[in-house]
Amino acid sequence: MGTCEVCGESGDLVNTKVEGTTLKLCDDCQDLGEVVKRPTANTPSTPTPRPARKTRSSRDEPDDELVEDYSTRVKQAREQHGKSPKDLAEQIKEKDSVIHRVETGKLSPDRKLARKLESALGISLYEDVSEATGYEQDARSAGGQTLGDVAEVRDRS
Ligand SMILES: [Zn+2]
Repeated sequence: MGTCEVCGESGDLVNTKVEGTTLKLCDDCQDLGEVVKRPTANTPSTPTPRPARKTRSSRDEPDDELVEDYSTRVKQAREQHGKSPKDLAEQIKEKDSVIHRVETGKLSPDRKLARKLESALGISLYEDVSEATGYEQDARSAGGQTLGDVAEVRDRS
């Protein structure tokens, strides 16, 4: 309760920001400015936006990628070895449907499967692409302070 600072009416007043000054105004005068919202006790914590580091996810993996013609490579190598899909499947302890799907390009072998195919057939399915993409390597060389500088500080009290 109080008196409106614009028209002098008494009643329920609302903090209203008018040209940078907060005034207590009645319902009729609120339109003159912008109503100041009551501060909420518990503001929902906004999720901290992560800095976009598009190279981050790929840094965990070696810089090689599945070759595009993996299906052809597997099929040709298998035939050169005179193996049936079933033979190959048994050799690497996979189902022959897996071999079939890889050879038809319906299944991209993950690294584990690719390694088995590579060693069984003597082929290469993941190839180094690091020179094509390039990656940051200056993180390690940045900063001048060495660990030795910090280690010298001792509490002598
Ligand atoms: Zn008023």
